[in-house]
Amino acid sequence: MREDELPDPKGQEIKAFVCGPTVYDYAHLGHARTYLAVDMMIRYLRFKGYRPYVLMNITDIDEKIVKKSNEIGKSVNEIARTFEKSFLEDMNSLGIDTIDRYERASDHIPDIIRQIELLISSGYAYETETGVYFDVSRLATYGQLSHQSKADLRLRRLELCSTKHHPEDFSLWRKFQEQPLWDSPWGPGRPGWHIEDTAIAMKYLGPSYDIHVGGAELVFPHHEAEIAQGEALNNMKTFVEYWIHTGMLNVGGVKMSKSLGNVVTIRDALTDYTPEELRLFFANVHYRRVANFCKSKLLEARKWLESMRKTMNKLSACSSGKPAGKSDLRLLRDLSRAEDSFTSAMDDDFDTTRALKVLSKFLRDANTQARTRGDFEATTCQTVVKRVLAMANVVGVLAA
Ligand SMILES: [Zn+2]
Repeated sequence: MREDELPDPKGQEIKAFVCGPTVYDYAHLGHARTYLAVDMMIRYLRFKGYRPYVLMNITDIDEKIVKKSNEIGKSVNEIARTFEKSFLEDMNSLGIDTIDRYERASDHIPDIIRQIELLISSGYAYETETGVYFDVSRLATYGQLSHQSKADLRLRRLELCSTKHHPEDFSLWRKFQEQPLWDSPWGPGRPGWHIEDTAIAMKYLGPSYDIHVGGAELVFPHHEAEIAQGEALNNMKTFVEYWIHTGMLNVGGVKMSKSLGNVVTIRDALTDYTPEELRLFFANVHYRRVANFCKSKLLEARKWLESMRKTMNKLSACSSGKPAGKSDLRLLRDLSRAEDSFTSAMDDDFDTTRALKVLSKFLRDANTQARTRGDFEATTCQTVVKRVLAMANVVGVLAA
């Protein structure tokens, strides 16, 4: 996102939706990466004077939960509630406090049904003996977000024995016989994943909103489908202004995935590292790039934090006992420059990596100045500590 594309701050509201977790297992570092990135973006928008409002859905109706329920003999509801609770605990442990509202899919079945009815009545969806599907051929723009042509999509979505009119059509409602089931005008069944999110987003944020964040793996088909639904429901007006996608996560140089057995849960990571260390580590990789979680990088983050904290402690306690002089003026001038550079780094697509460098360099220089020229005057120190903390709080580090 570029600065010139942003509306003027001054208390302006920004509405954001974040694709939440499917609650069938403990949340892992991939979740931590995406949600910490969201947290830093929202903290920055607040820092700039905006009033962000952030909504996250909880996917508690999903075939993965049904599969787990069949495997371990516990109800879908029991599994969903257990892992929703652990997820919220993890968010709390990481200090992610910028989500204003969490909403479960299962609490929105009437909203989902209403949207599907509207899509059918306006000719964007059709019913077959297996469910209700979105007719992708009705939309010329389908595939734009993921830069795919209709032919590409057809090949990717080919299914044998499907009742769909086109291979790339996606389900809005699926008819089922076995639990969990919800009643609908098309018989008992379960909603499709994409419509769960659109129904929740539109209920609380309105027919269109500013920012949608999710992992890069969700671009297709999930977000493409959300756009199709959102625009079809609102006379083809833009559904979301900015789509933000976070990059993949590797562990020790290898893609983190369930099938490879190298998934690190948030709670496991928090037994070895502090939330601040995880924050610094993730902030030091731009959110769109692939992050590589490895011990050496986390230990680097630890050392980095220690050295920044040392300087902050020194500044908090400093007092030359003399009135403000040249070195105080120089320090305050450097601080203003650091704030400008910090802001322009963050304005450039939330470049936390560059912003951290600015913060770190300012503290290093302040430390050198204090050592070579003696301490600063008390008010100077208080001002510096306060304004540095405001910047550090965007990343969520150095909190007192
Ligand atoms: Zn979603």
